[in-house]
Amino acid sequence: MAGDCICASLPDLAHIAMGDSQQRDERFLATVEEVRRAGDDRWWLYLGKCRVCAQDWLVAQEERIYDEHFLERLQPVAAAHILATGKWPDTFISYECVLRVGKSLATPCRFLNSMAASLLWTVEDLRKERPNISAADIGGLLGISEEHATKLIVASGSQVGSR
Ligand SMILES: [Zn+2]
Repeated sequence: MAGDCICASLPDLAHIAMGDSQQRDERFLATVEEVRRAGDDRWWLYLGKCRVCAQDWLVAQEERIYDEHFLERLQPVAAAHILATGKWPDTFISYECVLRVGKSLATPCRFLNSMAASLLWTVEDLRKERPNISAADIGGLLGISEEHATKLIVASGSQVGSR
């Protein structure tokens, strides 16, 4: 039926691939509108609301490693709390959290270029949030080997240093 939304068909913690074969990303974004953005340091995060069924969604848009929208269904009181306080739920509060949810739900992209900018930016962000994060942890989050993660750490460190 025209005008229907897909909210009810999604689990409470959901993921929708960008370019989904059933066009679920387009159908989700067709009815869910951005209500509030978290802002610069959490560029992936926003609060959305469906204009058909009024469902509130916490949305993390992850375009580097998973190429997915990660979604958490919110109760109205939780959405109101975000709008009133500017405080966001823990689920996608750091990039590391987003990647942990990603790992639990989806499969990371495979990179033809092992030193791709998306990987380097992600390593930089993870180390900004948690400077002592290990290469093994980074590898696990990105679906790459610890050795590969170590090379990315070295490369991102030298980039930071040369700025
Ligand atoms: Zn809806």
